[in-house]
Amino acid sequence: MPKPISIKLIFISLLIGFFFYSCSSTKIPNSKAGVVITFDDYFVNEWKEADTQLAKYSWKATFCVSNFEKLSNTDISNLKALQNKGHEIAGHGFRHLNAKEFTKKNNKQQYLIVEIFPLIEAFKKEGITIKSFAYPFGAKTQTLDYELQKHFKIIRGTAKGGKKVADNANFFNGTRLANGIGIDSNYEHFSLNYLIKVLNYAKKYNKIVVFYGHKPVDKATKEYEVELKTLEMICQFVIENELKFYTLQELNSLKK
Ligand SMILES: [Zn+2]
Repeated sequence: MPKPISIKLIFISLLIGFFFYSCSSTKIPNSKAGVVITFDDYFVNEWKEADTQLAKYSWKATFCVSNFEKLSNTDISNLKALQNKGHEIAGHGFRHLNAKEFTKKNNKQQYLIVEIFPLIEAFKKEGITIKSFAYPFGAKTQTLDYELQKHFKIIRGTAKGGKKVADNANFFNGTRLANGIGIDSNYEHFSLNYLIKVLNYAKKYNKIVVFYGHKPVDKATKEYEVELKTLEMICQFVIENELKFYTLQELNSLKK
């Protein structure tokens, strides 16, 4: 039979163990800091390749697809495969119109008929339900923000990276209107150091940062290209700092 002192010791260690266990298990659900990585347009091949490279991080991305008529059957099946892996397929306009310019000359109903309804329908026929939308060119209007919320859960615009990260509009603000910060190499604010500042701010203040890029490449030489090393850096930061990957539509359940 063990001495009473060792029973006491076992009991105390169990208590300490339980204390740390409960701290660590409550920490995860309370912490919502994370990233939403979105991609625009229709670079399906490159998205698929990026997914192959980044799957090791169990990352989650949102692919905002435009120009449905330019997609091949292979593109469609690759998009379905990405969705089955936990990524979100979102909308980015049936024709990739500049919504702000279009609605200067046409009414909002015409915009919906030309740009939104065919987008939703075309994907629906393929068994893909579009729940989020990203404005082409980040061009938006308040009227459309209101109108589009009848058809999508989350609407994404774009935000520039300013000198003071705290003033950036690229952090999820608890509404259904989110803004992403560009991660293509040609953006004025872009550098890996700047992105690390943005990520550190999200970590420190428990924020969700929304990113957007276009075509993943090894080395960016043109506009609309995001380097794979940028994506690797973001994913590594998420894993090392225990942040979370979210899709755009998942923000809907976190809104205020
Ligand atoms: Zn676009």
